[in-house]
Amino acid sequence: MAKYRGPVCKLCRREGEKLFLKGARCFSPKCAFDRRGYPPGEHGKGAQFRRRRESDYNRQLRAKQKARRMYGMLERQFRRYYEESLLRRGLTGLNLLQMLESRLDNVVFRLGFADSRAQARTLVTHGHFTINGRRTDMPSVLVSPGDVISVRQGSLDTTYFKDMLAVAEDKNVPAWLSRDLKTSSGTVIRLPERSEIDSNLQEQLIVEYYSR
Ligand code: SF4
Repeated sequence: MAKYRGPVCKLCRREGEKLFLKGARCFSPKCAFDRRGYPPGEHGKGAQFRRRRESDYNRQLRAKQKARRMYGMLERQFRRYYEESLLRRGLTGLNLLQMLESRLDNVVFRLGFADSRAQARTLVTHGHFTINGRRTDMPSVLVSPGDVISVRQGSLDTTYFKDMLAVAEDKNVPAWLSRDLKTSSGTVIRLPERSEIDSNLQEQLIVEYYSR
């Protein structure tokens, strides 16, 4: 399964905002964006002082890149999501965001079972979760309303899950999901509404980018 393996904090600096890709580190003084909030590269520091008129294409490209990076996806897979979202009924942009939110790694993250989507992805890949009782190791699986995502019984004894379940209580779960820490599981109640998805995402610009 292909994934980006380069320096993660550079992605935030490139997009000019914190994308919260590294869990607890993003809220600590170690955050690279807080320390060096200018674009990476030789001319990055000067770029923050240069005024440039941004083209429509650049705005669309940046909106797409930001979303892609937040959800940790490569271009080909992201484009496939867009194409699939065109075929679904309703607004293409919202369909796309709902598909991104329905990814198993994102749902594990939203349920508070991981600090970041990247960590959730690793946990899923290592087979620590089940969907409706069936073990899966594919972070890209799309869950549907009614699906129950659980920590696998055999994984509950590991130090990671013991520690994680102790702190998960303090993490909020969005209204479209429900979580039961006693059974270490969560249920998808419905698809998220637009207001429940990151307001920084500009889905209209992403749609414009792909429909050029
Ligand atoms: Fe981005 Fe987190 Fe790295 Fe800060 S620590 S630059 S928010 S990934």
